[in-house]
Amino acid sequence: CKLQGGKSVCSFYDADLMQRMKREQELNVQFPLSLANRDFTIHLQPKVYLRDGALGGAEALVRWNHPQLGLISPGDFIPLFERNDNICQLDLYVFEAVCATLRRWMDEGQPLVTVSVNLSRAHFKNPRFLDPLSRLKAQYRIPDGAIEIELTESTFFNERQRELVQASIREMHRRGFLCSLDDFGVGFSSLALLQEFDVDAIKLDRQFFNEIANPKGQTIIASFLSLAKKLGIHTVAEGIENQAQADYLLGVDCDMIQGYYFSKPLSIPEFEQWRLTRPPRHNPGGGAEAACG
Ligand code: C2E
Ligand code: MG
Ligand code: MG
Ligand code: MG
Repeated sequence: CKLQGGKSVCSFYDADLMQRMKREQELNVQFPLSLANRDFTIHLQPKVYLRDGALGGAEALVRWNHPQLGLISPGDFIPLFERNDNICQLDLYVFEAVCATLRRWMDEGQPLVTVSVNLSRAHFKNPRFLDPLSRLKAQYRIPDGAIEIELTESTFFNERQRELVQASIREMHRRGFLCSLDDFGVGFSSLALLQEFDVDAIKLDRQFFNEIANPKGQTIIASFLSLAKKLGIHTVAEGIENQAQADYLLGVDCDMIQGYYFSKPLSIPEFEQWRLTRPPRHNPGGGAEAACG
């Protein structure tokens, strides 16, 4: 702000802020109607085994295709919906869409792959948040191991929360869900989390792979991977865009990669086509997909 003729001039910033607030309000207002109209869809991004190029699973990523506002990316509405509780409804919607897809694959005799869904930390406010997920899993007759729940480190923000999450992960396993740590390595206590939480997989954040030429970064990646391996935790590298990154990760024995190098997130029909191009698993049995045959 500066003084101009005795008045302070902040209008530029105010206009910016006002614009943003208006937009956020609009998205919040549109949410219930959009959910009812099924304007939200999921895309599936493949996870691929580095050793043999076989399909190892997929991540469900939500997309908002609004008839007037156009295609809105999750980065624009997920943080907003995490501030009110819209995210909980939306995650459930995504979860059900995944169940319906897995059910259809089974009915059509298509091979199952483990599909992971992102679960916001907002769910942990409700101690019974796993109940609706279990109900849907039973309703769609989804086998154990076919759905993986991704949690991010921000879920574990304090001591009390950590105990709650620890108990929830045990409960997820009891109910037949796998559990992974998303955006791994960007928080303060990633290594401690590995020791403390009984997760099936970690997904190394894509920021690590921007500069794989950096020796310090390489040391960090290699130590995360070797520790995870010793603990029997599967490893996935996120945001892999080129051959150099993939070669490097194969060299340090990372299990799977997810990124544009193999595929962008795909619509479900696109995913069903894409998977036909993948070679079969060379040495099955060790992978997460073994759980659902
Ligand atoms: P995430 O769970 O870490 O998902 C990975 C994000 O990285 C996705 O962005 C994906 O499209 C993007 N990505 C994948 N490969 C590459 C690559 O090679 N290069 C680059 N630059 N990006 C890549 P997207 O779909 O925009 O989702 C962003 C975030 O929104 C997700 O990050 C996740 O935290 C959140 N999100 C998405 N869907 C849901 C949902 O259904 N529920 C919740 N709670 N969060 C969701
Ligand atoms: Mg994720
Ligand atoms: Mg991630
Ligand atoms: Mg993320």
